[in-house]
Amino acid sequence: MNAIITQTNNAFSERKYSSGRNVVYVKSPLDKVADDFFHEHKIYNLDFKCHTWNKVCRIVTQQHTTALKQLFPDATSIKFSAKAGCSCGCSPGYLVKTEPSKHGCDHWVTVEATAQEIDHVSSRIHGLIEMLECEIQDKTPVTV
Ligand SMILES: [Zn+2]
Repeated sequence: MNAIITQTNNAFSERKYSSGRNVVYVKSPLDKVADDFFHEHKIYNLDFKCHTWNKVCRIVTQQHTTALKQLFPDATSIKFSAKAGCSCGCSPGYLVKTEPSKHGCDHWVTVEATAQEIDHVSSRIHGLIEMLECEIQDKTPVTV
């Protein structure tokens, strides 16, 4: 897996960029793998907090974090945040912290994965179907 910066915005004056705080927006083929799982298994229909879906997201986030570590070798921490770019949640991204002395900025990053790498993540995600089925069964009220 490989990550490349496609665009950088050096908006130094804004408060959110102080103390080496970078916001990184990631475009990745793995998001489609997660999206497909979401739609295929109608996660949107579930009326409970789905642990399986959280795990799917964690798998994808882990892969992206690993790719971002290579891209930002001087990062002191890399964290996914649903509210990275905006407090309303419209702009999820990764908060990449570097040395506080360095100015942060926005980066747009594209993750490149080989078909084999995508397959690998996809099979890990689809391996969670049993977990999802158990979860749904547990949450389904027993009718008498
Ligand atoms: Zn917003």
